Amino acid sequence: MKKENVRPFLDEVMKTLPEVTVLERMEDRLVYAHGCYPLEYKWLLQGPYPYLPSAILMPNTTEEVSKLMELSDAYEVGVIPYGGGSGIVGGSIAENEEVMIDIKRLRSFEINAINGTARGGAGLTGAEFENLLNEAGFTCGQYPQSFQSAVLGGMVSTRAIGTFSTKYGKMDDMVHALEVVLPNGHIYTSHTTPKASTGPEMDQLFLGAEGVYGIVTAAEVKIYPVAEKRHFEAYTFADTVSALEAIRTFIQNNVHPAVIRLYDEVEAIPRIEKFNYEAGHVILIVGYEGLAKQVDLERELVQQYCEEQGGVAKGEEAGIHWFHSRFSTKKMLDHDAMRGGTADAIEVAAPWDCIGNVWREMRKALEPLCTDVDCHFSHVYHTGASVYVIFHAETGGDDVAGAERYKQCLDTAIRTSLANGGNVSHHHGSGKAKAAYLVDEHGEAGMEVMKAIKDALDPKGLVNKGVLGL
Ligand SMILES: Cc1cc2nc3c(=O)[nH]c(=O)nc-3n(C[C@H](O)[C@H](O)[C@H](O)COP(=O)(O)OP(=O)(O)OC[C@H]3O[C@@H](n4cnc5c(N)ncnc54)[C@H](O)[C@@H]3O)c2cc1C
Repeated sequence: MKKENVRPFLDEVMKTLPEVTVLERMEDRLVYAHGCYPLEYKWLLQGPYPYLPSAILMPNTTEEVSKLMELSDAYEVGVIPYGGGSGIVGGSIAENEEVMIDIKRLRSFEINAINGTARGGAGLTGAEFENLLNEAGFTCGQYPQSFQSAVLGGMVSTRAIGTFSTKYGKMDDMVHALEVVLPNGHIYTSHTTPKASTGPEMDQLFLGAEGVYGIVTAAEVKIYPVAEKRHFEAYTFADTVSALEAIRTFIQNNVHPAVIRLYDEVEAIPRIEKFNYEAGHVILIVGYEGLAKQVDLERELVQQYCEEQGGVAKGEEAGIHWFHSRFSTKKMLDHDAMRGGTADAIEVAAPWDCIGNVWREMRKALEPLCTDVDCHFSHVYHTGASVYVIFHAETGGDDVAGAERYKQCLDTAIRTSLANGGNVSHHHGSGKAKAAYLVDEHGEAGMEVMKAIKDALDPKGLVNKGVLGL
């Protein structure tokens, strides 16, 4: 990054790309300086913000993104792609006064009902994309909790996941084709065949790459007719382990309801009290959608597997309550905003034979550092599951103390996951927050591959420097 070239670079952008908006005022730079990484809240409260981007560029087309990348390469100016800003792992911290490229003006939308796909510009939010689909009678089934703010390009780049993942999959399953502008400005577009045997699957290289290999400008995803029937219900179990066993058995028998959400003995308490269920038990919420007959059959099968593990059917109310409150993150954000407070949702995955230990040990390790720890399991697979470990801490000190406690909690959580067979992140990504731990998951050789690709595509290290440890 040549900081002295930023001014000439911006002058050239204004001269050659007059349709691209250039924001340079302090207010704009401050707004873009932070996403939703908990330490960014602490830095905001601590005083003058330490990491401001030099400017923000807002292109309108893929071609303009391509020209911007060519120019940033020529002037050796570092850039950071910016989507909805809901990233939670410090993936867009402008440590070197980089220039941000906001992709939210890329808003094209097209449905191909014959192929069962829809193509959206990288700047459409999850909610905008889904609403456009719904108006035409379709859904893609992607409902992350950040549905209103995360955009397609950001969700592709972090391999995001929504609450209906058991049926519709994760972003990496949903994407059918991609358009990406490489760091040298070249535009990569994938063929739209359903499968190819002509080399590695290149779209997967950009999925989860968090921008280090290029800027995603459009994505084509699989779509489905809007469900004929949707149904929610709850089961209680005596403990987390028997509920996990019920889930494992129906998933491995290929029964895939849309929503699976298991609250452990602690996170279940407010729900147990609210609905007057058995004290000390855990709650499993199951949501189904699709053809009416399919929903009915899945319900019958899930009931059979749950009852085999002692599950007790509780009807619809807890599931409907979850559905209506599913976007609320108030408690976490209140702790982030609190002087000396901090909070985060750490999400890791593990194979079935480790997930119970990962959950138990992470809870045990975090409890002494926190005022409370909530744990639930909401994404499950044939071979394993992920667990959310949501911690809230109050140090009683200032924002520096809050930041220190945050780092301690994050480190404790990730090291405990790795030590028990879990990984670093299931879907929030690495950003800069978790970059140091990636070698423990991928090994030296894995990091060597990621770095070699980075060096080949971005030899000057200009795009999202430091993210994913690259
Ligand atoms: C309240 C809350 C709830 C959340 N719930 C979920 C959830 O349910 N599921 C989930 O998966 N995540 C969740 N997240 C995390 C976050 O929403 C996701 O990581 C999301 O995919 C980020 O998208 P974004 O558009 O906001 O990206 P940004 O925050 O703008 O960027 C994230 C990273 O991707 C890079 N990037 C952005 N756009 C592009 C692009 N077009 N091309 C290349 N790189 C790009 C950025 O440089 C950055 O490194 C949540 C976050 C919050 C704050």
